[in-house]
Amino acid sequence: MKFNTKTIHGGQSPDKAYGSVMPPIYQTSTYAQTTPGGHKGYEYSRTHNPTRDALEKSFASIENGHYGLAFGSGLAAIDAVIKLLKPGDEVISTNDLYGGTYRLFTKIFEKFQIKFHFTGMQDTQQIERCINLKTKLIWVETPTNPMLNIIDIKAVSALAKKHSVLLAVDNTFATPYLQRPLDLGADIVMHSATKYLGGHSDVVMGALAVNDKTLADQLYFIQNASGAVCGPQDSFLVLRGIKTLHVRMQRHCENGRAIANFLMAHPMIENVYWPGLPSHPNHQIAAEQMEDFGGMLSFTTKGNNYHKALKVVERLKVFTLAESLGGVESLAGHPASMTHASIPKAEREKTGVVDSLIRLSVGIEDIEDLKADLMQALEG
Ligand SMILES: *Cc1c(COP(=O)(O)O)cnc(C)c1O
Repeated sequence: MKFNTKTIHGGQSPDKAYGSVMPPIYQTSTYAQTTPGGHKGYEYSRTHNPTRDALEKSFASIENGHYGLAFGSGLAAIDAVIKLLKPGDEVISTNDLYGGTYRLFTKIFEKFQIKFHFTGMQDTQQIERCINLKTKLIWVETPTNPMLNIIDIKAVSALAKKHSVLLAVDNTFATPYLQRPLDLGADIVMHSATKYLGGHSDVVMGALAVNDKTLADQLYFIQNASGAVCGPQDSFLVLRGIKTLHVRMQRHCENGRAIANFLMAHPMIENVYWPGLPSHPNHQIAAEQMEDFGGMLSFTTKGNNYHKALKVVERLKVFTLAESLGGVESLAGHPASMTHASIPKAEREKTGVVDSLIRLSVGIEDIEDLKADLMQALEG
């Protein structure tokens, strides 16, 4: 089955009870038993729920994995992965990381004596320097947020295999429409399904997909034991979102390209960070491991003025000033005052998060309206 069919049919079959084409929302916590232990595969909804099961099969299918797991949020999914580890274990993570992941690693799991190394991952030698006998996991996010750096998943996977270390990839920005980390050698792929998979900014959810049965069993155990599962209503919504993932992504990519080119040609713009631009430092790797380049991009304005950048995002009308990404509507953010405000200026500037940096999640509206909106906001 091709990807554009899997989004609609992958792991799905009409419901057994009445043949409903969409899986019903099984809004139930428990299931009747005929004798103790005599049930139809469902006992309690933290462990299993038919609507969530349908969604988990869809996650596995679109990521070319054998097993899928759904969680109450992206961070709950990451939390479950780190719970595979024990005190003394070490993790190597990309340094240009989603802020919530960084907070979970450093503020929660470091208390439990798990050690995290944060490093640039464009050069695999830098990763290898952090590997020792305690290293159990490499955590990759590509493209990164908000600088849109690209990490070579195949190269990191070869390194992980050489040292018998697990490789997990946060595939939230790319989605399986653009890149399938399991095919490139990753052991675990993770999503904030809140973003492109849900696609309509109406649900918070997380997902994992894996191929290995033992690893899947360990993760299912943690999912049930820790209990950070999602409800049936949200499962239904994300299943519905996934059915249009491929058409939405196609338009996100088209609009992303048009906005990147528009900004490149604008006299007030200093830098545009979009992996599809030949001038992007990791363009070659992006072209190899991604089908297209997505709708996430960042840019800076000349003069690097903090207050001017605030004015630009405040003047936007079609783009909404908001955190998050991946919905049908276009969003804009100012990392220096929003997502990265708690990081000291000198620290954040080292990774490129300068005062004038603006991040866009380009939606699927008419491109002329999006360009006109950016034009009036910049020139305002
Ligand atoms: C949003 C996001 C997360 C966290 O997911 P939640 O659903 O908000 O918990 C993790 N990684 C990336 C790249 C994200 O964008």
